Amino acid sequence: MFDPLGFIEHKRDGGHHTDTEIRAFVNAVMTEEMRGYQLSAWLMAVCFQGLDDGEMAALTDALGRSGDVIEYPREMKITDKHSTGGVGDKTTLILVPLVASLGVKISKLSGPGLGFTGGTVDKLESIPGMKMHLTAQEFYKQIDKIGCAISGHSLQLAPAEGKFYTMRDVTGTVPSLPLITTSILSKKLAGGANGYVFDVKCGGGALMENYEQASALAEKLVEISKKLGKNAVSVITDMEQPLGEWVGNAAEVLEAVEVLSGCGPDDVRELCCALGAEMLIMGKAAKSREEAHAMCKNALNCGLALKKFAELVGEQGGDASVCYEPLKVLKFAEKVYEIKSDREGILARLSARPIGEGLRALGGGRLKQGDEIDHGVSVQICAKIGSRVNRGDVIMRVIYNKETQLEAALPYLLQSWETADKADKRRLILGFVQ
Ligand code: URA
Repeated sequence: MFDPLGFIEHKRDGGHHTDTEIRAFVNAVMTEEMRGYQLSAWLMAVCFQGLDDGEMAALTDALGRSGDVIEYPREMKITDKHSTGGVGDKTTLILVPLVASLGVKISKLSGPGLGFTGGTVDKLESIPGMKMHLTAQEFYKQIDKIGCAISGHSLQLAPAEGKFYTMRDVTGTVPSLPLITTSILSKKLAGGANGYVFDVKCGGGALMENYEQASALAEKLVEISKKLGKNAVSVITDMEQPLGEWVGNAAEVLEAVEVLSGCGPDDVRELCCALGAEMLIMGKAAKSREEAHAMCKNALNCGLALKKFAELVGEQGGDASVCYEPLKVLKFAEKVYEIKSDREGILARLSARPIGEGLRALGGGRLKQGDEIDHGVSVQICAKIGSRVNRGDVIMRVIYNKETQLEAALPYLLQSWETADKADKRRLILGFVQ
């Protein structure tokens, strides 16, 4: 018989839980033998007392196995990529076909955007006909056929983690390293891949605002994955300013197609090649970072990755001509508002977070799960940190539909940037943990 009160008191007093106790606890949360108020008390105890690596591995395993777990045949080696979330982060749209075009199978379960960060499901739903909620059977068959698939979470993956996350969201218990680690990894575990590449975002537009926090999460994700018998590597990357030139759903698909066509912004290309290289090494398609990086660059430049994206879109019911005539296929809002500089200087700050909040106010994001979104609105970033700007230069272009939404977005966007006499140089790739 599980004793909820004793379990909470044990953690409150700094005690250690055994694997058996943790399994019984997750089971009690699922059956509601452990009540919501008791779960919240335990979560707060963890915020102060922490969990050791053994407890984290056991909790990840119990949460990950609380619902469906995708299983692939033994001989089918699958890699997965996870980003801790950011603004303008369209890497999944590029990385999945890129890596698959080079022979490494990749399964990607993605979520919708929530809060100020965007989501892959919303971005891909800008493509007419695109089916983003595949059944387990469809998901598995597509990976077998073309080497990749991207689906929303239509399966009952890690339902216990869903209960934990909902409770954390309303009890001030989100910012806890062991709880974040187990939350992310339990969903990866249920997704069934053999190895993971984590893109741990760092900066004002990310969950981890400084390098120390980001590297602690990066290390923990790798350590606990390895404890659970999975291969893993973390890449710590900058999320102080948005990634690329566009923030917004259809606009980010357009930018992804540009990068897959061998063009597009340098930072997006650099990040996709860095993450892609780690996935190729993990999937044994390359031996060194240099070799893998060159393979990625070539697949983007020669159209191989774009061809794979067209296959993926077509398989999932979408209009694959988005890959060749994106402006005809994607729908954009029609009104444009330009934010111009009233001074000369160097762009010293361009904060991702208020830009993400501005996009949400335009209707491009949601406040709560289930809200309708407008795929056609976007913010074009015309200057990045370090750019010289003159009086009258356009800093951002807002592409919108409704005046009321523009009015709601402008306070965020106007306070998102600042000029100065000089700016610190920013690096995109901040570190690797393996
Ligand atoms: N992403 C997750 O999936 N879980 C967290 O706790 C934080 C970010």
